[in-house]
Amino acid sequence: VSPEFDLIARYFTRPAPTALLGVGDDCALVQPQSQAALAITTDTLVAGRHFFADVDAASLGHKCLAVNLSDLAAMGATPRWFTLALTVPRIDHAWLAAFAGGLFALAERAGTALVGGDTTAGPLAIGITALGEVPPGLALRRAGARAGDGLWVSGALGEAALAVAVRKGRLAAAAPDWRRLDWPLPRLALGEALRGVASAAIDVSDGLVADLGHICAASGVGAVIDWPSVPLGASLAALPEGLRRDFALAGGDDYELCFAVPAEGEARVADIARRADVPLTRIGQFVEDGGVRVRDAAGRAVELAQGGFDHFRPAT
Ligand code: ADP
Ligand code: MG
Repeated sequence: VSPEFDLIARYFTRPAPTALLGVGDDCALVQPQSQAALAITTDTLVAGRHFFADVDAASLGHKCLAVNLSDLAAMGATPRWFTLALTVPRIDHAWLAAFAGGLFALAERAGTALVGGDTTAGPLAIGITALGEVPPGLALRRAGARAGDGLWVSGALGEAALAVAVRKGRLAAAAPDWRRLDWPLPRLALGEALRGVASAAIDVSDGLVADLGHICAASGVGAVIDWPSVPLGASLAALPEGLRRDFALAGGDDYELCFAVPAEGEARVADIARRADVPLTRIGQFVEDGGVRVRDAAGRAVELAQGGFDHFRPAT
């Protein structure tokens, strides 16, 4: 057998009982539940751009699936199947075993199965396409928020961005929770629980203000964030106010959900938080227009250093 097929057989061929046909043929075959909409998403992680090339392989396997599952969560979809396009510079068995370990541990936990992919030699990069199912009409879209809806966020923000800054050597004194950067947990139970309750949703991957801006643009509304009510990662407490704001509002990689809840759904949020086992915080509200604005405790406008992480923004 060629090294490529040996690699696929050894590390990426596992039973996929939820598929009609998994790894090994020209295509995988899957049978969606009748009526369900298929939610399909792809995210690519490139070494040196999205992760440090020497990052722990198990956490990388976890994270490249996690970021895709986070998109399914933001859509209210239930993960079912995924494919893996893997580009590696060389066959390193210890690395591949660890990578597959992290990948499959999360796959099992999330109830999704690897059904196919592609393997090539080249600079390290990982592309995953994840497929999920959502009952007809219940997908959580970016469009749908209305003026007057409450603005909510799950968990806490800023910890992952702080971890990036420390890893890059830009902040020495801080002690971030590395798990938030390297082992993010997609908010799948929350996404499912928000079906029929949230009027719009997005996952926070590029920073709260930037991602909330996408909801506003798609929904044709504005939003006002009350800065004092934004839940912050515990390690941010020791930082100066300006840095706390930058990390929590403009930092990326949090993979929390940001969503809109109309007044009639508000009473259900506490129960959803309990069922999904994640804190949910109302951090502001949607308004008629004006984009995304941030207010301090006195109601004054807060200016932000940057709008979020943009891959094509020229370096300054
Ligand atoms: P083809 O040439 O028909 O595209 P490949 O040789 O690329 O087939 O792949 C053979 C089989 O292995 C296919 O079923 C493909 O989906 C699967 N496969 C290849 N690479 C991966 C991978 N990294 N993870 C999971 N399945 C893979
Ligand atoms: Mg192929």
